[in-house]
Amino acid sequence: MAKGNDRRRRAEIAGAGIGGLTVAAALSARGWDVTVHERAPDLRTFGAGIYIWSNGLRVLKALGAYDEATADAHVGPLFETRDHDNKIMEEIPINRPGNARLITILRETLTRSLINVCRAGGVEIRTASEAVGAAPDGTLLLADGTQRPADLVVGADGINSAVRDSLDLLMYRKHLGYGAIRMLIPRADGDVASADRDKYIEHFSGSRRILYTPASATELYVALCCASDDEAAMAVPADRELWTDSFPHLASLVARFDDSGRWDAFEVVKLKRWSKGRAAVLGDGAHAMPPYLGQGGGCALMNGIGLAAAVADAPDIPAALEAWEARERPLTEHTQEQSERQGDMNYWPDALRSQVLTITGRSRELAMQRLKTALHVPTGTAEAI
Ligand SMILES: Cc1cc2nc3c(=O)[nH]c(=O)nc-3n(C[C@H](O)[C@H](O)[C@H](O)COP(=O)(O)OP(=O)(O)OC[C@H]3O[C@@H](n4cnc5c(N)ncnc54)[C@H](O)[C@@H]3O)c2cc1C
Repeated sequence: MAKGNDRRRRAEIAGAGIGGLTVAAALSARGWDVTVHERAPDLRTFGAGIYIWSNGLRVLKALGAYDEATADAHVGPLFETRDHDNKIMEEIPINRPGNARLITILRETLTRSLINVCRAGGVEIRTASEAVGAAPDGTLLLADGTQRPADLVVGADGINSAVRDSLDLLMYRKHLGYGAIRMLIPRADGDVASADRDKYIEHFSGSRRILYTPASATELYVALCCASDDEAAMAVPADRELWTDSFPHLASLVARFDDSGRWDAFEVVKLKRWSKGRAAVLGDGAHAMPPYLGQGGGCALMNGIGLAAAVADAPDIPAALEAWEARERPLTEHTQEQSERQGDMNYWPDALRSQVLTITGRSRELAMQRLKTALHVPTGTAEAI
């Protein structure tokens, strides 16, 4: 929308991930001219699934990306955790009236839906365009030496954010000593019992986990999680013999692992502040968290649309960015802390973990309550969208 002198406001965004595309789509819907700079030569995402909770789904709806993003989604009936003997420890019902909404989709589908909304809104997306920094006056600096002045610069350039570092915003970056290999393989009968086929199931064994996630009608998303010093387990391609030894009850699934996959370490990022002048940082660059709650992308979606709403008509952009941070940061940090706590049990002995989770999981009410506390959902909220 035009401001007093009818000049359209302009944003320069580094990174075409979930955060960058969300803020780009939301700003263009509010009348801004937006350019997104993506370092990669194309807009393809790597092959994995992603969990999206009610909060993220609401943002997709508000952006107009929901229908495309969820067209082939998997909507599971339960999220379960199982012990080393394949016994259910906790069972969390989802997607029924009064439950949280939780769906899974392919990352590629999510990204594509956001790109299409951006393009329909006139956002320019430049690939092979690398940001190397930003200045608080609202200038984005590119690797080819170009300087791009704007009303707003957003560093949505991921966990190693060059924009963040150029602005000296990092408070700390904590490596959690754990991580995951993610891969997508075709779905098949026989991976798990037929009654379990559509569930989301996290299997524990020692310090390793396998997350079983149907992510569409045809694709299964598998995450193999282990300590960062468990060198044999973190190797890609995944060592099928090793994973079968840890999870004999998943032998037929493990036998179908292919040689693809990517290892990512889990980290927490905290900033001194999320903006400086007219330059803001968003997503993993600002508030990375381990993925145990599946909320890193959810927070990028929420904070992306929140940022656009905060600055849209604001007469003073630096002040609007400070107000945005004051509003969003407490919930984001709550989610980071709760996510980190979910990793505490990685190193518990199997028997202890099994006992504790079986007790907390005995009451669905308690399990739901634990989830709602973790996700900061007010008790009694009907989470349908
Ligand atoms: C194992 C694992 C599982 C996860 N599961 C979930 C889940 O189920 N649900 C969920 O909500 N979240 C999940 N997350 C977290 C989620 O993936 C991230 O929080 C989310 O992708 C962050 O989005 P982003 O846009 O900040 O960063 P990214 O997705 O990393 O995007 C950054 C983009 O910027 C580009 N870029 C980088 N540097 C530059 C540069 N200098 N110039 C220009 N472009 C640049 C990159 O190429 C990339 O396209 C998971 C994370 C991990 C590690």
